[in-house]
Amino acid sequence: SAPAPRRPIRDLPDELISQIAAGEVVERPASAVRELVDNALDAGATQVTVRLLAGGVRLIAVEDDGAGIPRDELPVALRRHATSKITSLHDLESVATMGFRGEALAAIASVSEMALLSRTALQASAFMLDARSGELRPAARSQGTTVEVKELFFSTPARRKFLKTDATELAHCVEAVRRHALARPDVGFAIWHEGKLVEQWRATLSAEAGADDGAQQQALERRLGDVLGEDFIRDSVPVQLRLGAVTVTGRAGLPDAARSRADQQFCYVNGRFVRDKVLTHAARSAYEDVLHGQKQPVYALYLQIDPLRVDVNVHPTKIEVRFRDSREVHQAVRHAVENALAAPRAQALASIPV
Ligand code: ADP
Ligand code: MG
Repeated sequence: SAPAPRRPIRDLPDELISQIAAGEVVERPASAVRELVDNALDAGATQVTVRLLAGGVRLIAVEDDGAGIPRDELPVALRRHATSKITSLHDLESVATMGFRGEALAAIASVSEMALLSRTALQASAFMLDARSGELRPAARSQGTTVEVKELFFSTPARRKFLKTDATELAHCVEAVRRHALARPDVGFAIWHEGKLVEQWRATLSAEAGADDGAQQQALERRLGDVLGEDFIRDSVPVQLRLGAVTVTGRAGLPDAARSRADQQFCYVNGRFVRDKVLTHAARSAYEDVLHGQKQPVYALYLQIDPLRVDVNVHPTKIEVRFRDSREVHQAVRHAVENALAAPRAQALASIPV
């Protein structure tokens, strides 16, 4: 058959570029929830409320009490590659915020009907921007931001067809917030679905107590108990180890607490939830001698590493990271968990018959 006639090379329209980017960033409602909660936390929120309709497909509204977005910057926030978080390559290499790519709002807005409602401390009123029409008008709310995302994927029916039932999408949304909640006991979270409160985790650490290590550890344990259940605390031991440039804290489940599914394995790197083979493998190998068969250990591990030694700019969703020295990280995690499990308290607890 004859080859297709060649067409000229053209720049893609902006809107289409965002929609293509959205394919990577926004897979389902939970991905939008994660991005919006990231933004709320970056804005210094102490309370984040997520309201959903139809598993997030009809509506995702994320409300925070953070710094807010000034009126004049509302349209800028929606632009692709527009961010307040980094300004240089140097910033990128030591990034301390959840976001930095400046593409989440643009991507989500390109596949939904989005509205931003925000008020800074200096403004006498809030302002509301309708992303589609560009209309900007005064509105009512206290300091902070509400991002409303309606009819996700209405313009991309192919993506919409891949969505599961509302209950499944809701479960993914809850999981996304859970991951944030486990990293930030100092922030309160609430999730509503169809007008009903689904989950609520109150802030367990006041800003003033923040400096004290003991208070932080206590707050974390309370949050772990609130989110994962008191069983998780009862059947786990504290992890605390520093190896080279890596500090590992958190809790590791006793062998008896292992589950058939790997659904309670949480790893954080500098406060960011990550999925990483090095970390999973290291944790798993710490259980080598005490856990047999297919059982999956439970743990929540928090790594602190010099930001220069970890690259978070690997994937648009930033759920993957790359370590400069993955051997060191592996050793740190493995030893941290092994030591925790070998501690006398762990042995004593493990020997109590259930
Ligand atoms: P990024 O988070 O990578 O900067 P986003 O597209 O998620 O990119 O957000 C763009 C910008 O909009 C942010 O840099 C921030 O300045 C502003 N912004 C978004 N959400 C909020 C929020 N909840 N509170 C305050 N500012 C926000
Ligand atoms: Mg962001």
